[in-house]
Amino acid sequence: MHTMHRRGQVCASARAAELPIESVIGLTLHEVGHHLAELVWGSSEQNEADAVVAKLLGVRIMYAGPLLIQRVSASVAARILGGRR
Ligand SMILES: [Zn+2]
Repeated sequence: MHTMHRRGQVCASARAAELPIESVIGLTLHEVGHHLAELVWGSSEQNEADAVVAKLLGVRIMYAGPLLIQRVSASVAARILGGRR
């Protein structure tokens, strides 16, 4: 996934859907966080994308695996998905 090449747009590869749902959610929130950080702080560095998601949504984005891919906890994923996991 990536973002910021066009205002308000996040791009995702179909291969992202092969990741665990916790990573799909973490990646998506991180990318949306770039846009939110730009709106809130006028800057959207990597850490700011995660920080604005924590500040506005109360969700902590973590990094895991050999590629250090974004993820959220299983409980956050369940909450976002409506608790049906
Ligand atoms: Zn980023």
